[in-house]
Amino acid sequence: MCGTPRLAQQGERVVLAGWVNHRRDHGGLTFIDLRDHTGVVQLTFNPEVAPEAKLVADRCRLEWVLRVEGQVAPRPEGSDNPNLATGEVEVRVELCEVLAQAEAMPLSTADEALADERVRLQYRYLDLRRPRMQRNLRARHRFVKALRDVGDQLGFVEIETPTMVPSTPEGARDFLIPSRLWPGHVWALPQSPQLYKQLSMVGGFDRYMQIARCWRDEDLRADRQFEFTQLDLEMSFVDEEDVFSVLEAMVSFAWESAFETKVPIPWPRIPFADAMARFGSDKPDTRFGHELSDVSAVFAGSSFRVFRQALEEGGAVVALRVPGGGDLTRGELEGAWLEVARTYGAAGLAYAWLREGGYEGGIAKFIAEEEAGRLTAALSAAPGDLVVFTAGHRRVAQTAMGAVRLHAARRFGWIPEGRFDFLWVTEFPLFELDPLTGRVSPMHHPFTQPHPDDWGLLASAPEKVRSRAYDIVCNGVELGSGSLRITDPQQQSAIFSALGFSLEEARTKFGFLLEAFRYGPPPHGGFAAGIDRMVMVGVGESSIREVIAFPKTQTGGDPMTGSPTPVAPEQLEEVGLQLSPKAPRPSAGG
Ligand code: ASP
Repeated sequence: MCGTPRLAQQGERVVLAGWVNHRRDHGGLTFIDLRDHTGVVQLTFNPEVAPEAKLVADRCRLEWVLRVEGQVAPRPEGSDNPNLATGEVEVRVELCEVLAQAEAMPLSTADEALADERVRLQYRYLDLRRPRMQRNLRARHRFVKALRDVGDQLGFVEIETPTMVPSTPEGARDFLIPSRLWPGHVWALPQSPQLYKQLSMVGGFDRYMQIARCWRDEDLRADRQFEFTQLDLEMSFVDEEDVFSVLEAMVSFAWESAFETKVPIPWPRIPFADAMARFGSDKPDTRFGHELSDVSAVFAGSSFRVFRQALEEGGAVVALRVPGGGDLTRGELEGAWLEVARTYGAAGLAYAWLREGGYEGGIAKFIAEEEAGRLTAALSAAPGDLVVFTAGHRRVAQTAMGAVRLHAARRFGWIPEGRFDFLWVTEFPLFELDPLTGRVSPMHHPFTQPHPDDWGLLASAPEKVRSRAYDIVCNGVELGSGSLRITDPQQQSAIFSALGFSLEEARTKFGFLLEAFRYGPPPHGGFAAGIDRMVMVGVGESSIREVIAFPKTQTGGDPMTGSPTPVAPEQLEEVGLQLSPKAPRPSAGG
């Protein structure tokens, strides 16, 4: 391989194949850097040693594919390249064969010259030649292999579940497949193997795993694709701690194998309510402190209308102390900072600076002296600090301040590099309440067990019911979710009815699951961790597209194949389909 010749092989004859990375002529000799995924080696072509090979070399262009035979030799005095693993040697070529020619390249295969993403995805097969993509996808391979290895050691059995499934509500929109044999009927691509893995438990496979492809028809963001891969797990006879220890073992082992970084275990467990109160997020970045403070008690009798109103309505005042924020300008706070708070639902962002003489600027004039004393004590604030606040509905205020905390962290460089801070967020609410319709929907999915202490709240205050659902979070990114499942048909029916499914609807959609649970379902629970996101975090990329071989663009197209594409009318007719494009797209694949 091109990256392997070393000085110790001096005089040995080698055969190499690869791509022309670079060619230059110097002093009557031709030099070619030949590349494969292991690295680059310098070839030298001397007209006096091998005139024919030299003629071939002189015709070569970038990215031509060559096979050469030659001798490993030390480089001439002073021409070592310490940046290359092969930098002390060259291969003196005797025979050179062109295996393939290449036209002028539409993009560079060097990491330093990154093309526009659309071009990269249009020529993804060339983009994949870049060392960074090679590194990312090979790390992904090692990661998945290690997960399988450790799963096998722990007694997990890989079961392939179908990818043509009934359409079931699991939170996102389904991709549908029209059925030709049953006109008017559809299959769906699975949003996850959820129901099948639960049925495997009923089937006596007490430790199921699958590296599972899942599909969700959602708008794409930096960390979303229509199709993605999960490490999907389900286990019988377990509680939360059993699931946690399996995942800690698997992920820490695979992380070290693939990314050569130790991940200490066990990971901290933080209940959802605490994560929201301390970090303003259900996926807190715990690489740094700077936690939020609920200062509602300080402002119970506030003369500041915004705070008073929020508290009277049962809301909260949430604050963040920003050490070193004393130099921030009003312009910046009322520009970028306010924008962040507003984006996350806050009506405004209040602020005041703490100076030697007390609070100044912003809302300082509304802070009474004894409030100032208690505020400073609550935040352990000191002169030179800035304090920012949001008031309103508790969850909204926390979320907005969570976003402000991250903004401040970037602004002041609070986030340490090179750390992986994993944690479990536990006891998620069972339901999400839509404030407009008053209807609840599952926060995780409808098969999640409620917290036993909160079961009594189901009828009166469903939004207060906690669940036995949990997430893995690392560096502020949600890496996966899971829960203990309901196996009691009565409890499952109660949840369906809280969600507004009639018994009839529940039977139509999930009848097979309810039926299965009549025949001795073992108690069970599981987890699904996003492989794409884990590898993204592990290799230090900021988009999952950098760790997926052939991803879609952010507008959901594939410029390489030009898909999605129209199909011939006969094909549509066969499956009984008529398409009525709402807004014709001039060119797909964007
Ligand atoms: N099926 C769930 C998901 O894809 C994970 C689980 O509950 O195991 O998010």
